[in-house]
Amino acid sequence: MLRVDIRDLQRGPVRTDGQLDPEDPAFEGLGLTLAAPVTVEGQLQATGDGEYLWRGHVHGVVTGECRRCLTDVRDELDIDVDAAVFSANPELADDPAFYPLPDRATSVDVTDVVREELALAAQADLLLCRDDCAGLCPRCGADLNAGPCGCHTPAEPV
Ligand SMILES: [Zn+2]
Ligand SMILES: [Zn+2]
Repeated sequence: MLRVDIRDLQRGPVRTDGQLDPEDPAFEGLGLTLAAPVTVEGQLQATGDGEYLWRGHVHGVVTGECRRCLTDVRDELDIDVDAAVFSANPELADDPAFYPLPDRATSVDVTDVVREELALAAQADLLLCRDDCAGLCPRCGADLNAGPCGCHTPAEPV
């Protein structure tokens, strides 16, 4: 369960383990192609003052094109989330360090964290077929992983 009743949290920390389908609406608009269900493990706890702290781990498999050479890539994302804080305090609603909860929320849903962490990881990490991919020649478009092309300028990695 990725959504936890606040009454349960008032009794103590609650495990949040679950899976999100690649087609889950939470991932709409991210521009990611997920190749497998996203698995989530973690623990949510109340820290007082209407705040809830989640620590956990997110695993997802994304596919796409290598940023440099455009071959198909499949990338495993393993993300440790040290601290995601939900707050119902309206003064923090615009603070990017917090996940806002609606006034009088009755549950906390960590799906928002999963969505955001995946998007960030995919941006930072993605997508290279390998770290030293040579990319395509900017002049002739040849795949430089296969060897130098006929042009004389060495390609700068993009
Ligand atoms: Zn590549
Ligand atoms: Zn070339």
